[in-house]
Amino acid sequence: MAKELHHFINGAKVAGTSGRTLGVFNPNTGEVTAHTPLASADEVRAGIASSAAAFPGWAATNPQRRARVMFEFKRLLEDNMDELAEMLSSEHGKVIADSKGDVQRGLEVIEFACGIPHLQKGEFTEGAGPDIDMYSMRQPLGVCAGITPFNFPAMIPMWMFGVAIACGNTFVCKPSEKDPSVPLRLAELFMEAGAPAGVLNVVNGDKEAVDTLLTDPQVEAISFVGSSTIAEYIYATGAAHGKRVQAMGGAKNHAIIMPDADLDRVVDDLIGAGYGSAGERCMALSVAVPVGKETGDRLIEKLIPRVESLKVGLSTDTDADYGPMVTAEQRDKVAGWIDRGVEQGADLLVDGRGFELQGYEDGFFIGGSLFDNVTPDMDIWKEEIFGPVLSVVRADTFEEAAELPSAHQYGNGVAIFTRDGDAARSFASKVNVGMVGINVPIPVPLAYHSFGGWKRSAFGDTNQHGTEGVKFYTKVKTVTSRWPTGVKEGSSFVIPTMK
Ligand code: NAD
Repeated sequence: MAKELHHFINGAKVAGTSGRTLGVFNPNTGEVTAHTPLASADEVRAGIASSAAAFPGWAATNPQRRARVMFEFKRLLEDNMDELAEMLSSEHGKVIADSKGDVQRGLEVIEFACGIPHLQKGEFTEGAGPDIDMYSMRQPLGVCAGITPFNFPAMIPMWMFGVAIACGNTFVCKPSEKDPSVPLRLAELFMEAGAPAGVLNVVNGDKEAVDTLLTDPQVEAISFVGSSTIAEYIYATGAAHGKRVQAMGGAKNHAIIMPDADLDRVVDDLIGAGYGSAGERCMALSVAVPVGKETGDRLIEKLIPRVESLKVGLSTDTDADYGPMVTAEQRDKVAGWIDRGVEQGADLLVDGRGFELQGYEDGFFIGGSLFDNVTPDMDIWKEEIFGPVLSVVRADTFEEAAELPSAHQYGNGVAIFTRDGDAARSFASKVNVGMVGINVPIPVPLAYHSFGGWKRSAFGDTNQHGTEGVKFYTKVKTVTSRWPTGVKEGSSFVIPTMK
């Protein structure tokens, strides 16, 4: 029987009351295993009110005590890693090892958050003027909200609430309706770690819930990760309602392959980064750009057998390279993009459409696909596919290859494979993309650096986690102080200067 999921408000599981729910699938079997409640505006407001009530106490809790909750939460994540990974895998479809990676990447943000007191210390200048001291402090904003996508149900909520809460804010998370169980469990563990009720609330829902968060005057800041059309809407609507907004969107990540690159390693990297997690990663490498005909021909020759022999299996199969897609709709969307590529004249060398896993014909599986001779006028180059499909776009020169990611509407990640330090350095400096890998296929910055793309991959100007995250979740107040010295100067009608 399908489970009835809940919200997590003020430290307790709360049943949905709107009467609206959505099915959550086990993508291996296609069965509905749970129903997510879709919150009404009033239910979301209950979550916001709980976080607003918790804010003054949490903001006044000293930073080291806040950090201790993070330390304990990290320990609980480690202790519950297997349970979290299995839960994640059973709703998302990524294989268990990759699901553990999802939790681990979030845990690393919590590790970073343990040290946030150091970044929140502020600055002090003694004797900034006659008898004057000046200091600045980074204060929390208040109630912050996060709206997260289906593809990293552990890591992305922790990117957001880990940093926000360590800085003294309280948080309302609205996870993806497709795989909400892990974020709900994270909230329970966070309470167990010692966070007071209301510091982290989870409300499930769809557009109605999101719009309530975007417009409620008690919400100070919105973090969003998802597709670009929605990211742009979130940015515009949140900003119009006076909120700070960081909204990360879609991607099309290119790999430039220079003639001097070690092609066997490149192929290993392209296969892992292109097809891992069924391509449902915003940092997936989805376009390979070999430079020169010979590089292109050799690359294709090596890629074909590797894509043909990908092992697509149950998310619980430890031998599987990747599991099912999150929903049938997502799988059909990917198949539709492959149809479009064929119609527009790209060469489909390996066709993953119609793949069925024996005994699991109702699961949401799709095989790996490989296109050659994709050109920039084709939709499969212009748009994000978000599935296990690699497109090869051939370039005659390094300059032509380097222009492709720079010209693209998205600018999340990019990689260059070469032994030529000069080419790599110049590429990293000039490319119009936010995260660059040099012989590294998935250049996701570690927790103490910051994650964020450019162009239509991110709206707003502050990245996730690292020092950028601390800046996003705090506001600076600067105090200029002079204690009475007995010297009487009289009134001055001139702006104070240090002349
Ligand atoms: P999505 O945009 O469909 O959903 C993201 C969130 O927005 C969900 O919580 C969803 O409930 C909500 N939402 C959906 N439609 C809405 C609407 N009309 N109004 C208000 N809210 C709405 O994205 P998804 O399919 O869950 O995730 C995949 C996308 O996320 C891909 O485009 C991927 O590239 C992107 N992504 C980007 C990053 C990044 O950091 N740049 C990271 C991970 C995923």
